[in-house]
Amino acid sequence: MISIDILNKKIDDFLLRKEKTNNLNCITQELSQRAKQKISSLSLAKNSSPLLGKLFSIKDNINIKDYPTTCASEILRNHKSLYDATAVSRIDNSGGLIIAKTNLDEFGMGSSNEFSIYGPCKNPINTDYVPGGSSGGSAASVASGLVDVSLGSDTGGSVRQPASFCGIYGLKPTYGRVSRYGLTAFASSFDQIGILSKTLDDLVNTFECISGYDKYDNTSSTNKINKFDYSEKSTRDYTIGIPKEFMLDSIDATVKNKIDEMIKYLKKNNIKIKEISIPLANESIGAYYVLTTAEASSNLSRYDGVIYGDRVDASDINNMYKNTRTRNFGEEVKRRIILGTFILSSGYYDSYYNQALKVRRLIKNQFIDAFEDVDLILTPTSPSPAFKIGEKIKDPVTMYLSDIFTVPMSLAGVPAMNVPFGENKEGLPIGLQFVSNYFDENKIFSIAKFINNNI
Ligand code: GLN
Repeated sequence: MISIDILNKKIDDFLLRKEKTNNLNCITQELSQRAKQKISSLSLAKNSSPLLGKLFSIKDNINIKDYPTTCASEILRNHKSLYDATAVSRIDNSGGLIIAKTNLDEFGMGSSNEFSIYGPCKNPINTDYVPGGSSGGSAASVASGLVDVSLGSDTGGSVRQPASFCGIYGLKPTYGRVSRYGLTAFASSFDQIGILSKTLDDLVNTFECISGYDKYDNTSSTNKINKFDYSEKSTRDYTIGIPKEFMLDSIDATVKNKIDEMIKYLKKNNIKIKEISIPLANESIGAYYVLTTAEASSNLSRYDGVIYGDRVDASDINNMYKNTRTRNFGEEVKRRIILGTFILSSGYYDSYYNQALKVRRLIKNQFIDAFEDVDLILTPTSPSPAFKIGEKIKDPVTMYLSDIFTVPMSLAGVPAMNVPFGENKEGLPIGLQFVSNYFDENKIFSIAKFINNNI
């Protein structure tokens, strides 16, 4: 049985490892005091949770009561949370040990973890490279072995893409499967808390712990959670769809080879492969950036120096708002607020916002149609492996295009997971994305386990 001493030693070992990995800049705050207090209140004899004693890090846009939630933004640098996120209290209650908050792109906006008041986070595989974003700190803290599991948030790929860049699993659950209570809103109709881990078991156990209805989030689902029960036989009966629109010429050659290798491997195991079509997939980036910037401009209006956020004083109220928001938001966040405000302004609302909503509805229907014929969909997670720090920071559109394979699923709200699958010749990890129908996460876990067991 696990003893209090063993748990305390885990925390001390974490602190030693943290010292050695400070150069990664993945941790914004260590929470060893809090973790030790939690240990003293655990009733170990009664606890049979598989998460007991697992070390967790939490993206710094998810609330932990009495501790800062900065969202890597100047505007929240001094903000302390008044309540625990539901996912956080569920981990606490299971005996999981939350040990750190992690670096991110400001308010979850970015794909490289370079837009942060803490400075860029680095990829543990090669520190010249980005860990991906926005949950880069979460991915780096898992890949470097600092923690077992991390909670991130995924609005358009922010869990799956960093998981792929760092060579670990990263799940975005079905929209509504995990409560968003205590997750700082970026684009509320897209945001989901997601899970990053090196092992599938830790990921699945965390998923089962944090999923399920929460009275504090009225978009959380009351659908039943079916415990994951692996059957190799039924996994072999799956049909996997390959959407032709995702096989772009611009994909990196190694990523393309890896997809081919996976298809060959699945076929060899008699799993059926079928070419399918999501015709509007290539419109996803446009629709995503219209809808998420619109939602972001509205969600971020609360940071005005009055309701939330560090105030920058001025002689009148208008200038106070202006100074506060000009000085305390970073470049990428401002870009999105401006874009979103424009999109929602009268005269443009119909041509942009409503149009993008229609595209979203059609993409959703195309996924629903596709899942009439297949159990899962397979795509790359990202068009390339990790890129170098600084490589895309001056070119927002290129940065946005790195989400091309993850945003369609976010528009539809279906679950999707990065499965690590080897590396390129420089040793940078490659990830593949498996997608299932709504609330069918177990099918994704099954195929991942099948690959694990049989490769
Ligand atoms: N990289 C995407 C963006 O910048 C996704 C962000 C996210 O999922 N939080 O919007």
